[in-house]
Amino acid sequence: MLQEVHVGHKSLADYQSVVVKPLMEEIKELADSLRGKRVLHINATSFGGGVAEILYTLVPLMRDVGLDTDWRVIMAPQEFYETTKVMHNALQGNPVSLNPVQRETFEEQSRIASESLGGGFDFIVVHDPQPLLLRHFSGDLGANWIWRCHIDTSSPNQSLARYMLPFIELYDTAVFSMEQYVFSGLNIPTRVFMPAIDPLSTKNMALSPEDADYVVSQFGVDAGPPVMLQVSRFDPWKDPLGVIDAYRIVKKEFASVKLALVGSMATDDPEGWSFFTSTVEHAGDDGDVLILSNLNNVGNLEVNAFQSRADVIVQKSIREGFGLTVSEALWKIKPTVGGNVGGIPSQIKDGETGYLVDSVEQCAERCMWILDHPEESRAMGRAGKEHVRAHFLMPRLLRDYLRLFSEIGQAS
Ligand code: UDP
Repeated sequence: MLQEVHVGHKSLADYQSVVVKPLMEEIKELADSLRGKRVLHINATSFGGGVAEILYTLVPLMRDVGLDTDWRVIMAPQEFYETTKVMHNALQGNPVSLNPVQRETFEEQSRIASESLGGGFDFIVVHDPQPLLLRHFSGDLGANWIWRCHIDTSSPNQSLARYMLPFIELYDTAVFSMEQYVFSGLNIPTRVFMPAIDPLSTKNMALSPEDADYVVSQFGVDAGPPVMLQVSRFDPWKDPLGVIDAYRIVKKEFASVKLALVGSMATDDPEGWSFFTSTVEHAGDDGDVLILSNLNNVGNLEVNAFQSRADVIVQKSIREGFGLTVSEALWKIKPTVGGNVGGIPSQIKDGETGYLVDSVEQCAERCMWILDHPEESRAMGRAGKEHVRAHFLMPRLLRDYLRLFSEIGQAS
C-alpha cells in the first residue's frame, strides 16, 4: 500500500537571503506556468537516508510555489525491503542480484501497492528502485512519469540492470545525479541534476558554538578535545569500519582525539542492524569512539550540533550516489575528507573545499593535516560553504524540477 507522508509548511521567501536573486526569479516564473499542477512523489521511507531528507523540504516548497504536491511511501512486508536492499547493493555493483523468489516478492508487493495509487496526477516522481514497478502495474494514468534514481549506478550488476531496463523505459523521463550513472542502453529521455540540502532546516541552520558544545556534551563529548565525525547510515558502502581504522592512525599522533559515528536506522534498510553490530564490535572498548543513532535520540538538531562541533568531518564512502552529508558538513564551514567516489568529488574539490581520499591511510593523513592546520582548514571550509551555496541548496533543486515539469509538460 501507499501511505501519505505529512510535511510541515515552508515558504520559499525565507530562502531569498541565502541564494542569488536570479534563481528565485526563475523559480517564480516557472512556478507561475505550473500553478495548480498535481505532483506526487513516491519513495520507500519517510525516515532515514537522503531521499526522505530531501522530500521533507522539496514537497512543502513545491506546495508553497503553487503546485498541488503530495508524498507517499510504499509500505510492504519486511521481505520487500530485504529484496530492495539487494537491488540497491546490486545497482552499486554488488555481484549478488535478485533470485526468482525475490523477484516475485518485489513484483507482487509492487502490484499490491499500485492498487492504492489513484489518479489525477500531472507528474508522478518515483524515487529509486523500490517503487519502480508502480508505473508497470498502474498504466500511465494520464500522468508524466519520472524515475528519479539517487544511487551510484555507474557500474551496476548487469543481470539486475537487464531486469530493470524495460520497467524504467515505461517512464517518460529518468533523472540521475551524474552523467556516468545513466544506465547504458536506456532508451528514454534522461536528465542529470544533483540533490541539495535545506540550509534553513534544523539540521543545517546556524548553531552557535556554545549551543553545539552544549548539545554534544549531553552525549559525553566535552569542549576541548578534537572530534572526528562521520554521519551516515550503518552501511558497508559508507565504510564506518575504515573510518575507525583511520581514527586509530590519527589517535597515535593526537592522543585526545575522539571519533563520533552518527548513523540513523532507516526503515527501509534491514541490513542496518547487523552492520551496526559489526561497527560496535570493530570499535571494541575504546571509550573515545562514540557510536550513536536515532535510538539515542540523535535527531536533526543533534546531527547539526555534532557537525558544527566537529574539527574534521569524514565521509569515507566506497560508493556514494551524492552524499548529502558532505554538503551538510561544508555548509557548516567544516574541512571535509571524502571518499573519491560518486557524487563526492562534485562537492569536494580536492585541496580547495576539502580532501578526496582513496584509502584508510590517506584519510588519516588528511585528517591529521586538518587538525594540524586549523587556519588553512577553515579557509577551505569557507570555500566549501560558497561552493554549496552556488550548487547544492534546495532552491536550485526546486528550480531543476520545475524546469523538468515545464519542459515535459509542454511536450506531452
Ligand atoms: N542522517 C541523519 N542521522 C543519522 C545519519 C544520517 O539525519 O544518524 C541524515 C544525514 O544528515 C543526511 C541523510 O541522512 O541528511 C543521508 O543522506 P546521504 O545522501 O548522505 O546518504 P544516503 O543515506 O541517502 O545514502
